[in-house]
Amino acid sequence: MRTLRTVAELRSELAPARSRGSKIGLVPTMGALHDGHLALLERARGECDVVVVSLFVNPSQFGEQADLDRYPRDEARDARLAADAGADVLFAPAAAEVYPDGFGTTVEVTGVSEPLEGERRGASHFRGVATVVTKLLCMTLPDVAYFGRKDAQQLLVIRRLVSDLNLPVRIASVATVREPDGLALSSRNRLLSGEQRERALGIPRALARARERAAAGERSVGALQDCAREVLDDHLLEVEYVALVDPDSLAPLTELDADALLLIAARVGDVRLIDNQIVGPGARQSIHEDEVATAVR
Ligand code: AMP
Repeated sequence: MRTLRTVAELRSELAPARSRGSKIGLVPTMGALHDGHLALLERARGECDVVVVSLFVNPSQFGEQADLDRYPRDEARDARLAADAGADVLFAPAAAEVYPDGFGTTVEVTGVSEPLEGERRGASHFRGVATVVTKLLCMTLPDVAYFGRKDAQQLLVIRRLVSDLNLPVRIASVATVREPDGLALSSRNRLLSGEQRERALGIPRALARARERAAAGERSVGALQDCAREVLDDHLLEVEYVALVDPDSLAPLTELDADALLLIAARVGDVRLIDNQIVGPGARQSIHEDEVATAVR
């Protein structure tokens, strides 16, 4: 695996593969790799001839300086894990390579970026995500880019921008990888104390409770949200939102008459965690299923 730092190096590394017609896969990450990231990489390895992993802690998507400062960073470990998972290229640019002096363009997605994370973290969060993802796609020009359903709203924002800007890339999504007890893997989990980690289990338990209630026939969205919130409260989590919404548009619902997306954001101490799950009677295909990971080529 080669570690590259500049866009020029990345372009010249990929040019021969591209002219041979090789399929290039991109897995964008902020590092602190865990099995969730490795699932994206494995999928890319299985589907592409050349796999690029990017490692860039994007300052423009962090609202709080403290969150950015303490974001876990260990490039040597990430490089080992990425190489073991079969990556061909680790693209780890410095901030000045991505945002050189005079940088003045941002990508803003309206609609799906606005509620939930957009409300809690502010419009600058998804503006930062959309801008850096657009840049990484333009730098790498992959055939396929891989994203986790763990960040469900981010996935919708990225699908929207790829479609709206006619970017010639297929967006593939990968199911959330969890610990055996249900906690979704996240780079932020390592900031949790033992006691906080126990409390964090309230999040997957709340998702499971709502899913069970829906499976048992509960159709009131209010009742399902309330039962999830109760579990979060029992675990002494500071709830930011519990929202059971349309899985494609994130529009609020009142009745569960098709699959819906239950999203949770909660704080344990000063660590903010998010998770989500599809809840409902089934049947409807959603943007969160890979079968409809529509090619925009
Ligand atoms: P991050 O480094 O947190 O920006 O995440 C990089 C990519 O990994 C994003 O597409 C995330 O959605 C995905 N990801 C993060 N955690 C998980 C997980 N537990 N399971 C699957 N994908 C994940």
